[in-house]
Amino acid sequence: MKFDVVIIGAGPSALALACTLAKTKLKICVIEKNSRNKFSKPKNDGRDIALTHRSINILKKFGILKFINSKAISPVKEARILNGNSPRYLHIDHTKTIKDSLGYLIPNQIIRKAIYKKIKTLKNIKIFSKTDVLNINSNNFSSKIYLKNKKNIESKLTVVADGRLSKIREKLGIYTNKTNFEASMTVFRMKHQLSNNNIASEYFHYNQTLAILPIQKNLSSIVITLQNNKSKIFLNLTKRKINQKIENDLKGKLGKMNLIGKKYTYPMLTVYSNEFFRDRCVLIGDAAVGMHPVTAHGFNLSLRGINILQDEIENALINKIDIGNVNTLKKYEKKFRQVSLPIYLATNGIVRLYSDQKPIVKLARKSLLRLANTFWPVKNAVIDELLLKNS
Ligand SMILES: Cc1cc2nc3c(=O)[nH]c(=O)nc-3n(C[C@H](O)[C@H](O)[C@H](O)COP(=O)(O)OP(=O)(O)OC[C@H]3O[C@@H](n4cnc5c(N)ncnc54)[C@H](O)[C@@H]3O)c2cc1C
Repeated sequence: MKFDVVIIGAGPSALALACTLAKTKLKICVIEKNSRNKFSKPKNDGRDIALTHRSINILKKFGILKFINSKAISPVKEARILNGNSPRYLHIDHTKTIKDSLGYLIPNQIIRKAIYKKIKTLKNIKIFSKTDVLNINSNNFSSKIYLKNKKNIESKLTVVADGRLSKIREKLGIYTNKTNFEASMTVFRMKHQLSNNNIASEYFHYNQTLAILPIQKNLSSIVITLQNNKSKIFLNLTKRKINQKIENDLKGKLGKMNLIGKKYTYPMLTVYSNEFFRDRCVLIGDAAVGMHPVTAHGFNLSLRGINILQDEIENALINKIDIGNVNTLKKYEKKFRQVSLPIYLATNGIVRLYSDQKPIVKLARKSLLRLANTFWPVKNAVIDELLLKNS
């Protein structure tokens, strides 16, 4: 079997790239090790994905946004970042901008369903499910992809989108910078007595990080990050104790809290690939950059990377050059590194700063938030990032 582009993985990054490349008329194939049900009817995974205006525009451009019901999109009007129980906070407000919100929250399950609905309308994409990729070999003309079912596929360009623990990245010999924070993030939804006023809040306590993401007036997504040993204890608490704990942690700001539905837990391991391509294979999504979710950048970055790669592939097609050529992939690598590396390093730096208990670090984080709140260049940089200036 021969294809122009083979994409390994059928996660949101892989399928979003397939959607946008479909219009080029390239022959595209997606290979996923799980059954079709897993990506065509994705289950709730508890994640409410915070998307920037830039990402919403990219989803619109890829033809995906129209498959998302507007009722499933929750606007975030303000963001507050607090240091422990201090009443001061870093305040970012949409009224200082030309937009009517800072960004939006959409359940991951809904984003994934929308991407699949778009895929179903496209003719030049073939999906092989329950198919595991074992290895890849490339030469000057093509790559050969070896499958577990003993078949193989040839492609001009292979896109590796098999997630942050990517096995294919390893097979290609690409090293990564990995950080295991020995912590877990648990996400769940809570109803509450008082309105959240569309405000997203992030509380950096000394032994936990707690984020409140506004879904509806009296419904929020709660994101709690704890060291692994503390996380185990938290997961064993009764519903009544969790309600009480979050109510206490928030000092009753949202009134009575009521846990609804299941809790979902994720290990906090971040990954940054040293190379974004090797031979005819290019890395996207979490396989390229696996972010700590505390700054909600993972899928936003992935969409920016896909947008860059799509532009470079289209340029190659316009200039009638091989889509897997080194220069095309080098340009993608350079541009995506410029966008992703500062955000990756800053996010890991924030996580370290806000989980370190040393007195000097505690003092530094207090001063940093105060400085950021009064020093407009810092605030403006955050707002620019959210509102797609410099895109
Ligand atoms: C708790 C949490 C909250 C988050 N919140 C936000 C947020 O607010 N904003 C934001 O932008 N991002 C957020 N993210 C990040 C976002 O969810 C991820 O960046 C995104 O889901 C990554 O998608 P992906 O397609 O790159 O990888 P994945 O979803 O990991 O997909 C990889 C796919 O490859 C398949 N695969 C693996 N190996 C093989 C193989 N050998 N052969 C074939 N197929 C294979 C897998 O089965 C899977 O389907 C959050 C993440 C977490 C954990």
